[in-house]
Amino acid sequence: MSLAAPIFQGSCLCGGIHYEIHGEIGDVIQCHCQRCRKANGTAFATNAPISSAAFKITQGENLVKKFAASGVYRWFCGECGSPLISSRDAQPELYRLRIGTLDTIAVPQFFTRGSSFELPLVLWVFYRVKIKLLKFFFQTNSLELF
Ligand SMILES: [Zn+2]
Ligand SMILES: [Zn+2]
Repeated sequence: MSLAAPIFQGSCLCGGIHYEIHGEIGDVIQCHCQRCRKANGTAFATNAPISSAAFKITQGENLVKKFAASGVYRWFCGECGSPLISSRDAQPELYRLRIGTLDTIAVPQFFTRGSSFELPLVLWVFYRVKIKLLKFFFQTNSLELF
């Protein structure tokens, strides 16, 4: 791990769990598979890959619960329910961060500090969803593939 690696910080809704990422955050994706939709209660989950070695719970480790299904573990706060990351047996070197829990601004081009309406993010999300819907209609017969 490089000393120059960026440090990102995040926390759950109740503030019981705090974490740090001493590394890069990968490309953000809007996953709208059924499992992500149900786990988050939203139309899609906003996730990005991080190195599992770079992720550290700094407070509230005792509050972390993991829902396991098919070798995938969804880590969430047992107090407030915030989804934090997912890990999987098949890829122990990677976690998938739920970037909505970040307190550090990670992707300045998509997030506007101090704004409750993140227009660039919203436009980007619509663009990505449109592309995926086109792929869905022309190439696949299952949303689960995304
Ligand atoms: Zn919490
Ligand atoms: Zn998903």
